[in-house]
Amino acid sequence: MPIFSGKVAVVTGGGRGIGQAIAKAFVDQGARVAVVSRSLSSCGAVADEINATHPGAAKAYAVDVADHDAVQEMGKQIIADFGNVNILVNNAGVTRDGLLMRMKSEDWDTVIDTNLKGAFNTVKAFMRTLMKAEDPRIINIASVIGLIGNAGQANYSASKAGLIGFTKAVARELAGRMVTSNAVAPGFITTDMTGELPEKVREEVLTKIPLATFGETADIAAAVLFLASPQARYITGQVLAVDGGMTM
Ligand code: NDP
Repeated sequence: MPIFSGKVAVVTGGGRGIGQAIAKAFVDQGARVAVVSRSLSSCGAVADEINATHPGAAKAYAVDVADHDAVQEMGKQIIADFGNVNILVNNAGVTRDGLLMRMKSEDWDTVIDTNLKGAFNTVKAFMRTLMKAEDPRIINIASVIGLIGNAGQANYSASKAGLIGFTKAVARELAGRMVTSNAVAPGFITTDMTGELPEKVREEVLTKIPLATFGETADIAAAVLFLASPQARYITGQVLAVDGGMTM
């Protein structure tokens, strides 16, 4: 039997890139998924694609994860639709890069509200359900930038470092109910987010990656599926860097 048969996973930012790969990987291993993104066009397309080969395995939900009340409503809808949630993957994230000297207050707020408060909002929406679920898991997609910082990404670095602290606090708070909470910290992965990097920056980044190549979305999905699996039941409060050796 596939490893995630009977399980339900919620994947935020599932409309594109890493989140899309995670959602599809869960379905390939037997789970049903709630694909969440900002726009219905992206999460709807992913859900349609999944349902074409696995009928009824996916449903799409468009919400801004930064909107606390809207996320609580979405949470109720997902629980009503699926009857249960075992796995929550907080993957929705944005960048608004710029040197501090030029960074606007709204660029700071957008990134913190999406990347960090978004995870608080979804954990609030699903924690009661997770506490009663079989093999309950919270997996937050952080970033190596949250570990080592990066010039021009003060907002993003702070949001991802904050997400790592949040991951550990949640791990401690929910350990008594056997809910594990871990983070995956990707390095540079080929997606829309990194597609915008100028060639010169890409070349410079590559010199800092021992494995000398960008990662693929499947590399992150594999780490998430491991942490979500029953085999990872004794791992909590950890940060798994999937970065080609960048931060070793
Ligand atoms: P993409 O930009 O390709 O996709 C981001 C996804 O998040 C989209 O589906 C988008 O929705 C969704 N999203 C963005 N803001 C919101 C919001 N406010 N509410 C709901 N959904 C939202 O990103 P990646 O796949 O590259 O990155 C995914 C995660 O991995 C992010 O958290 C990112 O920080 C992290 N990461 C990525 C790295 C990389 O190299 N790519 C490296 C390290 C970390 P929509 O489709 O509707 O726009």
